[in-house]
Amino acid sequence: MRCELCPRKCGAERHETTGSGYCRAGWMPRIARAALHYWEEPCISGTRGSGTVFFSSCTLGCKYCQNYEISHGGFGQDVSVDRLADIFRELVDQGAHNLNLVTATPYWPAVREALDKYRPPVPVVWNTGGYERPETIRSMKGYVDIFLPDLKHVSPRLSALCADAPDYFEHASAAVQAMCELAGPPVYDEEGLLQKGVIVRHLILPGCTADSMRVLDFIAEHLPAGTPVSLMRQYTPIPQCTIKGLDRRITDREYDRVYAHLQLLGLDGYTQEKSSAEREYTPPFDLTGV
Ligand code: SF4
Repeated sequence: MRCELCPRKCGAERHETTGSGYCRAGWMPRIARAALHYWEEPCISGTRGSGTVFFSSCTLGCKYCQNYEISHGGFGQDVSVDRLADIFRELVDQGAHNLNLVTATPYWPAVREALDKYRPPVPVVWNTGGYERPETIRSMKGYVDIFLPDLKHVSPRLSALCADAPDYFEHASAAVQAMCELAGPPVYDEEGLLQKGVIVRHLILPGCTADSMRVLDFIAEHLPAGTPVSLMRQYTPIPQCTIKGLDRRITDREYDRVYAHLQLLGLDGYTQEKSSAEREYTPPFDLTGV
């Protein structure tokens, strides 16, 4: 296949297990882990956990990525569409509240085929860095119930520096608007678990609070009122990232500044206690459940 799934529109030739595009993905889904995960927002993880499938590769490739081993390193195992459908079924059988597909964009055609083979009785969550084409998002109608996009940076300079994508916000903002149109306002069940809707995530970067506030301004001005925002403070520097200034965690003062802006704008959603951010948990990428 020649691929134009994401805003990079590489037109790359993709084969079964290899690809020449920016993401380097082949068309067979490559998975690093498929297991119950308890560290998403409470309305996603619930008590039994979110059935989370971590896909390898990424269309954005942030240099500070907390899942570097799979987003840049390409770790994972290639699986067939039939096996992917079985993985979905196994997670539901384990009691997952939902199926949570993390950075699955390069594999959307195969994921859709798997969902045609096995339509889960729980919501499907599209968990993404936000660098998506609205056309691709709209093709998820009837397949995806919940969108969990990041909105990372507004500044083209910052996006170029962090992810070689100066056009990140232009595309991510349009994609998030398409997600809101597709999923509609949030709907919760009687246990408070999200069944449908969009939660916009924003990770505060050290030294970048002014940009964070511009992200929140966009949400307040352009997304439907009541769209939940998840403000995250767990940024952790990784050795592979050499960008000046991104070699430390955020300070309390930086977090307080962005949080005060969120309150000023009257945005709703989830914020993280400092203690829970420090315990933030990246699961082992060890092919569990694959
Ligand atoms: S999904 Fe990968 S190959 Fe396809 S356009 Fe995006 S970066 Fe290129």
